[in-house]
Amino acid sequence: MKFCVLTLFPRMIEQGMSESIPGRARRQGLIELQTVDIRDYTEDRHRRVDDYTYGGGAGMLIQAQPVYDAYQAATKECDKKPRTIYVTPQGRVFDQKLALELSKEKELVFLCGHYEGVDERVLEEIVTDRISIGDYVLTGGELPALVIMDAVSRLVPGVLHNEESAETETFDDDLLEYPQYTRPECWHGKSVPQVLLSGDHCKINAWRLEEAKERTRAQRPDLYAAYEYRQEVIRWLSRQKRLHIHMMELLKRNLGRVLAFDPKDGALLEENTGVIMLTCTSAEAGERLLTASGMDFTGCLFCVCQEEIIPVLRGRFQTTQARGCYQAYYTRGVPLPVRKDLDIRRLDESYAEEIFAEYHELVTLDELRGHLARGDLYGAFVKKDIAFDRENAGYELAGFIGTHSEGALGMLQVRPRFRRRGIAAALEAYMINEALKRGEIPFGHIFEGNEASLHLQRKLGLNVTDVCLWWVW
Ligand code: SAM
Repeated sequence: MKFCVLTLFPRMIEQGMSESIPGRARRQGLIELQTVDIRDYTEDRHRRVDDYTYGGGAGMLIQAQPVYDAYQAATKECDKKPRTIYVTPQGRVFDQKLALELSKEKELVFLCGHYEGVDERVLEEIVTDRISIGDYVLTGGELPALVIMDAVSRLVPGVLHNEESAETETFDDDLLEYPQYTRPECWHGKSVPQVLLSGDHCKINAWRLEEAKERTRAQRPDLYAAYEYRQEVIRWLSRQKRLHIHMMELLKRNLGRVLAFDPKDGALLEENTGVIMLTCTSAEAGERLLTASGMDFTGCLFCVCQEEIIPVLRGRFQTTQARGCYQAYYTRGVPLPVRKDLDIRRLDESYAEEIFAEYHELVTLDELRGHLARGDLYGAFVKKDIAFDRENAGYELAGFIGTHSEGALGMLQVRPRFRRRGIAAALEAYMINEALKRGEIPFGHIFEGNEASLHLQRKLGLNVTDVCLWWVW
């Protein structure tokens, strides 16, 4: 992830990003920071960058020209226009969901205002997003930019070490985090709650959930209402669990939101990267949900549970393609046996082309790079017969598997010369075990007719639905 900050106070940014976890991430090369001093681009002899506002009024405004030139210089090597954020109290209020969305970008440019702000004309030309860090006014945009960069950095794969994990935190599932305790067991006469010393993880998780709900209900009723609504939709979906596992997991894992829901009609969800999921009691009910959302879904990718809704999508959003998939899911909860002779590990971006050569039907190279940057893909390495001089000395990539943005396992491929050695099963078993550790129900979608994959799912102990759901685009 690269951050580029256009500012009048570059030292403030440099200092803020030199300490603690962001500082370590920079030293490890996981995060790159470029600061650009807007003042270096002024054409004024006295290095001024501000002037009075037209129409009168107190205060000075940063002029368009130095900001524009600083921006041009900073972005001249980018192949596409990077997401450019003007931090302003007038913007969309920053939250954890937005942090997650921004963490998926390769590069972010920040523009920090000062005085009364920045000439509107240059904002119109360069800015893609206006973001506020809250309803109060600061003297400048440097602290907001640092706040956003800090929150985004810790979501970049590899930045947090295991012990600093960001997996269960406040705002996950719309709940605040439960109370936590460390040594000593008794302090100021207050003991750590007994359940946390019990070693019983089921009881510990149940206690934590109750505490998180209690805290959220008391301190953030707005968040609690969102949590309750989401739970209501999950309960409704669970009445046909086999059909809806993908939608339930989307909501449980916080990978999307509810666009419309009516217990009589069904549920319409939007996955964080824009996939639309729909289940409905009839085609008319589906139409009502689509209308109730108030959104235009032209150009969207849909995953629908009922075939009869496909003509509706064709009529309303000009979709032309549809493919049926069986849903496979693993509800036993028991980890699968692991093979010791394979080295299975997360793949980084250097594997993009190697993987694209094997797997290109359903993704572009750029999308694959995005998956690799987010840590979605894992590879199985086997010992080479002859040692090559690659960094994986002695090992080569035999196959890979990944997680799609909506949470389904997929992208499973084994290179031809490694087939029939159980590598696909080992890769999928590995991913299933990892999902179980996170408390998820692992699932995947298998195209109709892919008998080899259906056979593999059954062999591993997954249940396979006997009706299809449909991917439509
Ligand atoms: N006149 C501006 C207005 O009313 O919207 C406020 C200008 S403020 C004094 C100066 C700069 O600080 C802004 O241009 C912006 O970059 C930054 N700033 C101040 N408060 C902020 C907030 N809550 N969130 C994000 N940026 C903020």
